[in-house]
Amino acid sequence: MENTIIKRIDLTRDYEAHREEYLHAIQQVCRDTAFSGGKFADAFDREFAAYVGVKYACGVNNGTSALHLAMLALGVGPGDEVIVPANTYIATAWGVSYTGATPVFADCLPDTWEIDPASAAEKVTPRTKGIIGVHLYGQPFDFSGISELAKRHGLFVAEDCAQAHGAKFEGKNVGSLGEIGCFSFYPGKNLYAFGEGGSVTCRNEAYYRHMTRLKNQGCDVRYYHDEIGYNYRLEGLQGAVLSVSLKYLPQWTKRRQEIGKRYLQEITNPLLTMQAHPNNTEPVFHLFVVQVEERDKFLAYMENAGVECHMHYPVPCHLQKAYGFLGGKEGDCPNAEYLANHCVTLPLFPEMREEEIQQVIALCNSYAS
Ligand SMILES: *Cc1c(COP(=O)(O)O)cnc(C)c1O
Repeated sequence: MENTIIKRIDLTRDYEAHREEYLHAIQQVCRDTAFSGGKFADAFDREFAAYVGVKYACGVNNGTSALHLAMLALGVGPGDEVIVPANTYIATAWGVSYTGATPVFADCLPDTWEIDPASAAEKVTPRTKGIIGVHLYGQPFDFSGISELAKRHGLFVAEDCAQAHGAKFEGKNVGSLGEIGCFSFYPGKNLYAFGEGGSVTCRNEAYYRHMTRLKNQGCDVRYYHDEIGYNYRLEGLQGAVLSVSLKYLPQWTKRRQEIGKRYLQEITNPLLTMQAHPNNTEPVFHLFVVQVEERDKFLAYMENAGVECHMHYPVPCHLQKAYGFLGGKEGDCPNAEYLANHCVTLPLFPEMREEEIQQVIALCNSYAS
């Protein structure tokens, strides 16, 4: 797409705006050679825990590792089942599979497109250990509904917050609601590293200590390995960059919310269906996804007009080849399947310019079937 005028996301604008600060932070790490873990990674952990409003944040090398460590800390292993939504990025399910347990896919609600507590309830078996809810696209899932279900059956609730840094459910930050919260700092997430990064948040000291040991080759004391561990440490360079970005996260979030609300109010074309945002939630608009009946036609229309759109995500987890062995089939999760077949992601990022926002809105409104 050579003649793209409006990109779905453009990270170069943030780098241009804060280059001096980022480069200064990187230089500090180089000067101290604090490259793996170390004081800059530790400082970011403290700042991020304070931001989320929990006692502990355990920085890791990416969001997928965060999910894996969360499952291990919660005692998930072979023979166990964990319920996850069918419409999520596949890494939510990987965290479960890495432990030898089985992800069981629940459908989403038809309006919020978030995990449906009633569908999750149907998936509970004697082997179920917990539920991972995903705050998909930056919209908090129904934490009340999911936690009630979990209480009824003695299950844990973990949160996949990879798309929802700063989002709130009934005034409380995501990542502080369930037993453990999992974040990603992949470039393009609401808070992002210059490379890969992630964090696991919790209030429970035992979970935190265990995850800290696991990410550090299974040792508390160097060269004494108490259990089989992993090399999942956060890099010092990423910690230093993230400490800079975290200062800007509140203003980025505000911008995302302003743009998201403009789209919601000003895109009035009935051919485009928006995600519902219940009043007890504060979404952070990681992705602005709409449903369009004739998706290919709409995608071609936007591309011709020079607007880059994507699909998040074209195949639900239960129909991915990698999970074919679980026997998932079409019709198992109809709402998630409908979303996969009709979703289009519009451009939305904090540095979007007014004329770009207006152009996206105008194009959406003048689309005709
Ligand atoms: C990005 C993402 C992840 C994985 O994070 P990585 O840092 O890319 O490993 C997990 N879950 C969701 C919902 C995501 O969007």
